[in-house]
Amino acid sequence: MSLLNQTHNPELTSWLTSANVENSDFPIQNLPFAIFKRNNASESFRGGVAIGDQVIDLAALSAKKVFDGVVGAALTACSQTTLNEYMAMPASTWSALRSALSQALSSGSSLQSDIESCLIAQSDVVFDLPCRIGDYTDFYTSVYHATTVGKFFRPDNPLLPNYKWVPIGYHGRSSSIGVSGQAFHRPKGQTKAPDADAPTVGPCKRLDYEMEVGIYIGGGNEMGESIAIDQSDEYIFGMCLFNDWSARDIQGWEYQPLGPFLAKNFASTVSPWIITNEALAPFRMAWSRDENDPQPLEYLSSARNSELGAYDVQLEVFIETPKMRDEKQPAAKLSHSSFRHSYWTTAQMVAHHTVNGCNLVAGDFLGSGTQSGPDAAEAGSLLELTGAGKNRLDLGNGETRGFVEDGDAIVMRGFCEKSGVKRIGFGECYSLVLPAK
Ligand code: MN
Repeated sequence: MSLLNQTHNPELTSWLTSANVENSDFPIQNLPFAIFKRNNASESFRGGVAIGDQVIDLAALSAKKVFDGVVGAALTACSQTTLNEYMAMPASTWSALRSALSQALSSGSSLQSDIESCLIAQSDVVFDLPCRIGDYTDFYTSVYHATTVGKFFRPDNPLLPNYKWVPIGYHGRSSSIGVSGQAFHRPKGQTKAPDADAPTVGPCKRLDYEMEVGIYIGGGNEMGESIAIDQSDEYIFGMCLFNDWSARDIQGWEYQPLGPFLAKNFASTVSPWIITNEALAPFRMAWSRDENDPQPLEYLSSARNSELGAYDVQLEVFIETPKMRDEKQPAAKLSHSSFRHSYWTTAQMVAHHTVNGCNLVAGDFLGSGTQSGPDAAEAGSLLELTGAGKNRLDLGNGETRGFVEDGDAIVMRGFCEKSGVKRIGFGECYSLVLPAK
């Protein structure tokens, strides 16, 4: 079962030299999508594809009319202020545009001058959300995260009995999802210390990040219809980095019995580029369930899911404190893990989300849940890395952190690397915490 084609060929190079630089996030094998415009320009946002240190302006390319048919129609859809219409097109159309762009960017292409005239330096652009996110669902797919966090909230009963049967999730809020560069005020809310008689209201004292993979839905299913596990690739447009900001003290008091609410809906940040599902194909790998654990029910199980359900997306988190900014020190690395450790696959998330007939719509967004690996140092949140704030982290410059403080920025980076395959990157997801209002 091969998902690979000529666009993944590691030997492929571009006439654009910055795309061929070793360790570039955006070689010709990547071709991720974003919504952008030139910084300080009074012009509309529109679709773009990253190549090297440039963005291809897809509206400008569409206007040149060098492509017709399916690819021409795809470029028309990508010229809009959101990618929803493009994401609603069939996966075969996404593939056709990727193939056309790959050929046009390849060394020796006769379309070089047409594309060249549509390039804008990434350093000159600003981003918007890539699509209107209609609905957002956050999953909880790292068993390591679920177990460690469960111990803080329920020492006697960390992993609830449904965890190994159900890909657990909750419906989140879309309106407060922002794109990288987002600055937000520390949330306020109700908290109650375990030994206090009554709660108080005030600024959150335990502000945390969650290192997640974001999954954008393409296509869509009719209400009442389910998406079978082996059909999920037709509905997964692509992935990004996702910081699901969390107020741990608010969460601890409010989360029972209905789950996360105000602890989670004040801000969440996505990286600007959507790495397409097709670009990620070389980094898919076998997924399996420990033989001592319950095996997934039939609708969550397939040979294809076992063969290539997991994605080896490596994830890194850094903190940049005001002192680091002032003293021009690099951001300090907090942890590094991979999406391949996920207890549930993206195919299982899609199949489970629709098993009841829930209709997914192009532009819907799934969070993977915090991706913590098996090793304690691979944890995807400060709650885990500091033992709920008890063991402050040494940042290596004389500073320590228990939770995120005012003025701190959290930076996430992601990439895929494998021998014999061209490395691709996710770019960066940056967000800054301002003092409470
Ligand atoms: Mn989350």
